[in-house]
Amino acid sequence: MTDQAREIAELRRMIAASRRAVVFTGAGISTESGIPDFRSPTGIWAQMKPIYFQDYIASAALRREAWRRKFASEPVMRAAEPNRGHRAVARLLREGKAASVITQNIDGLHQASGIPEDQVIELHGNSTYAHCLDCSRRYEIDALREAFEREGEVHGCTACGGLIKTATVSFGQAMPEAAMLRAEAEILAADLCIVLGSSLVVYPAAGFPEMAKGNGARLVIVNNEATGLDPLADLVIHRGIGDVMGGAVGVNY
Ligand code: NAD
Ligand code: ZN
Repeated sequence: MTDQAREIAELRRMIAASRRAVVFTGAGISTESGIPDFRSPTGIWAQMKPIYFQDYIASAALRREAWRRKFASEPVMRAAEPNRGHRAVARLLREGKAASVITQNIDGLHQASGIPEDQVIELHGNSTYAHCLDCSRRYEIDALREAFEREGEVHGCTACGGLIKTATVSFGQAMPEAAMLRAEAEILAADLCIVLGSSLVVYPAAGFPEMAKGNGARLVIVNNEATGLDPLADLVIHRGIGDVMGGAVGVNY
């Protein structure tokens, strides 16, 4: 048996022994769909600095830059489809092994893999649409892009004049309270926490796997690189998510 086969078999046993699992995902689960992550050597942060929420609010120039980046990344985001890792997670949920997936991702690929909207807990929001920061009115990306291409900027909310921003949570922006509470409840109800593709450095999100472990759950980390929580985990697999999860859950496509 190869090391990889042994690790997958161990993960399969842990899943079988679990009464209720929770899955926690980061950008790494979507790289196999062609969406770059942040912290890999080829990730987004190797190319550009993040724009903090306060700077977005304060600076029209940085808002323009944020929209420029958003529209530049659109073709890749739009072309992305769920991969084997997403499908394996969907199967775990469909079979009732896990009640929901907690994700830091903003790409909507868990929903696209067939997981019902209410079983995806988005900690960092969603980049597939935008909203007004004051009155929450929703705006579609296509319409904003057309305005941006025409006028060189995205204007304020037509209802209240507030600033429009993608429905994501930027650095420095408050976490969505309802999602945080739901994530905590899921974590505390689980006896197994499976972390897929997160460098586990962005807090408070990265606190959830720690919380699960502190509450007595077993902790599995599947990630190409080492993470700060590896020493705490019951099983660490430094390999690609699609093969590992697909193998463990029996999803071969
Ligand atoms: P991160 O970039 O910090 O870490 C991703 C980790 O996944 C890295 O350690 C990398 O080695 C690993 N990885 C990449 N591809 C992998 C694969 N196929 N198999 C196994 N491991 C793989 O991402 P993060 O921890 O999610 O952190 C940060 C923030 O990135 C989040 O807030 C999220 O909102 C944002 N983000 C989201 C997307 C997305 O929605 N797809 C993309 C980029 C960034
Ligand atoms: Zn408004």
